[in-house]
Amino acid sequence: MSAPFPTKSPKTGEELPAVSVTAASEITQVVARAREAQKAWAELPVAVRCRHVAKVKSVILGRAEEIAKLVSQETGKPEVEALLSEAVPSGDVVDYWTQNAEEMLESLDVEIDRLAYPGKSGWIHREARGVVALIQPWNFPVALPLRTIIPALVAGNAVVFKPSEVTPRSGELLVSMFKDVLPEGLLGLVQGGREEGRALCEADIDLVVFTGSVASGKKVAAICAERLVPCALELGGKDAAIVLADANLERTANGIVWGAMVNAGQNCASVERVYVEKSVEQAFTDKVVAAVKALRAGIDLGPMTTQAQREIVARHVSEAKEKGALVLAGGVVGAGDFAYAATVMSVKDESISLMKEETFGPVIPIVGVDSAEDAVARANASKYGLTASVWTKNVRKGEALGRRLRAGVVTINNHAFTGAMPGAPWTGVGDSGWGVTNSPFALDALTRPRFVLVDKNRAKKELYWYPYTDTLRAIAVAFAKLRGGGPFAKLGAILSLLTLLPKRLMGGDAKGLAAASEPKVEEKPKADAKAEEKPKAAEAAAEEKPKAEEKPKAAEAAAEEKPKATEAAAEKAD
Ligand code: NAD
Repeated sequence: MSAPFPTKSPKTGEELPAVSVTAASEITQVVARAREAQKAWAELPVAVRCRHVAKVKSVILGRAEEIAKLVSQETGKPEVEALLSEAVPSGDVVDYWTQNAEEMLESLDVEIDRLAYPGKSGWIHREARGVVALIQPWNFPVALPLRTIIPALVAGNAVVFKPSEVTPRSGELLVSMFKDVLPEGLLGLVQGGREEGRALCEADIDLVVFTGSVASGKKVAAICAERLVPCALELGGKDAAIVLADANLERTANGIVWGAMVNAGQNCASVERVYVEKSVEQAFTDKVVAAVKALRAGIDLGPMTTQAQREIVARHVSEAKEKGALVLAGGVVGAGDFAYAATVMSVKDESISLMKEETFGPVIPIVGVDSAEDAVARANASKYGLTASVWTKNVRKGEALGRRLRAGVVTINNHAFTGAMPGAPWTGVGDSGWGVTNSPFALDALTRPRFVLVDKNRAKKELYWYPYTDTLRAIAVAFAKLRGGGPFAKLGAILSLLTLLPKRLMGGDAKGLAAASEPKVEEKPKADAKAEEKPKAAEAAAEEKPKAEEKPKAAEAAAEEKPKATEAAAEKAD
């Protein structure tokens, strides 16, 4: 059994309802039920699947306050924040997928060369993977899983969802909302921690979508690699915000404080490093410190969700202090078991954990930089690459700098909120993983392409089927020239093909080949002198035939001549 579920709210200390860990044998059954349900589900037209799934929107929005209350109890985040980040955008996610999935999942025609492949048409269909194992963290326990559950379902998959062991009740509430919307078993629930997550990865599933820490993501990836099961990983971050000298400092300070403190900094896309041009460093820092000091503990800023997380934050801050960083606000544990005060630090030495590892807490380290270039170089010197932001009035410059940042999402004059936009891809580079949530790109993991080709060619044989002959070889050479040669080579190839193709298609070259091979077959009855004559005649005939095949060679020679002429012409033109 995994570590026990938390029994008390980090926010109020109240007892939370008991939850049971899913036994290993039950995990197998949940997956088996999902697989069974998925077969019929995948057969339904996309529009019908969407109609079913769309019904969950009113359930979620109708129970928005209930969701916010429970999430707030389990994680400690302010209820208003839970309403804004977990409940309200979830309605948009349902709308986006159920209104666009039909078009996104439409089959694609494949362009086929009529000369090379006569009579053929082909389509790519997006097929559901099958059963998707969804393993999730605790920081956004409703909004995050929903961003995969909805597209996975409309694409025809079943989902078996394992919430974090820190937020099992929010996970259970989310699954319960689909009760009257989906066929039995299509959305399964597994409760537990690391061991149950591992068991789910080892069960009869077709894809793992994992969101969590780098360390766990690597373990999941290793299991998947061993089993050759694909996985999508959305991991941690160490997001940089770059503040240029011309930025609107008021907005920038407010935006960065929100981007760093939302959910007590327990956000994969939290601002965890700020690089500000030295000419405005003091003015910007003063505004940030003022905004942070204005935050009301328990109202604007909740406690941390787990004690372990608070310990990481405390460790990063004290190490930074030892290495010379200055505390400008906070820097101490807050009141209660889990709280940590909103913190601002001025940093010079970047070799510290606070600047290198994910802190996942309410800390803003500020570093003064010489220039925008300097800021970009420092921002990119991280193993993480989730999101990043540039703050400037010159949006062109901001965008140009943004394109040079090593991050999956770049925002100019804002930070971290785009995960709530279902049409915008959410993804990372490096240790932030390679998964994509939101947008049509999310379907690349949730589906696989299947190509179907229909052949209406009535010819007895394709050009390239047996037998292989010199004519076929000459055709292949002509095709190569047609595709890659200069204009004269192309013309030569067309002329050759005019002779070669009819010959090949009418079986003329096959006759030649048959004649050529006859002697070997006829060689056996050597005793019969009359019979021996025949092969000779056949050999003679066979020797003749290749002459007929010389044509292509001549054509080839002509075609080879042409490029030289073209080259000469080109040289003249020069
Ligand atoms: P975690 O890695 O401890 O746990 C995440 C999930 O994985 C949990 O459900 C856990 O039970 C399970 N798990 C742990 N070890 C496992 C294993 N060996 N095999 C299978 N499952 C296993 O992460 P966490 O503390 O819950 O979440 C915080 C992390 O998630 C942070 O690093 C944060 O940046 C990241 N995160 C990333 C994104 C993103 O979109 N990139 C979003 C949210 C959170």
